[in-house]
Amino acid sequence: MKRVFFIDFDGTITKKDTCEAMVETFAAAGWEEINLQWERREISTEECANRTFALFRANLEDLNELLDTIEIDAYFKEFIEYCLTRGYPHYILSDGYDYIIDYILKKYDLQLDYYANRLVYKDGFSIVCPHHNPACGTCGTCKTTLLAKLKPTDCRAVYIGDGTSDLCPATMSDLVFAKGRLLEYCREKGIQAQPFTDFRDILIWLKQTEA
Ligand SMILES: [Mg+2]
Ligand SMILES: [Zn+2]
Repeated sequence: MKRVFFIDFDGTITKKDTCEAMVETFAAAGWEEINLQWERREISTEECANRTFALFRANLEDLNELLDTIEIDAYFKEFIEYCLTRGYPHYILSDGYDYIIDYILKKYDLQLDYYANRLVYKDGFSIVCPHHNPACGTCGTCKTTLLAKLKPTDCRAVYIGDGTSDLCPATMSDLVFAKGRLLEYCREKGIQAQPFTDFRDILIWLKQTEA
């Protein structure tokens, strides 16, 4: 059966989570508490981001400089080749930012379909959430809603992720590759997940289990 891939961006495709890197580098004291509230799903991505941006001491050039230091998984390009060769649809679903994804994909000469929040810079940073689902209320980009909308009926959904915002869409997928917090959550909640370190592990697994 055909496969469709839904892939988280930060910390999954990139080695380091760019949102975390941005906050650690640019936010003045106070962001930790806001981040903890978001981790506990007590505040939405939108609220978390705008409250955190209010603490930022940075402009767009500072951000670009930081993004120049961000690397992607060494086997991600090979994974994309695999998807293209087999004709498997693949989408990035991110609760991070369009500007950052564009910047990094361009740096690695990749062109991929993605869904993410918009990063606006105008006298400071702010977030816009075009893929927000009012019924969910928490996510900036509601991956669960997008997955349901994008999954073709004749494909098995494969989810690849590492964090809090990946848990809901993972529960709706046929196969989950997880690392980091997502792997911990899956284990806690008894959700079947294949642990991975990098995309080489995923490629090996996929090729071995090809129907
Ligand atoms: Mg992530
Ligand atoms: Zn949601």
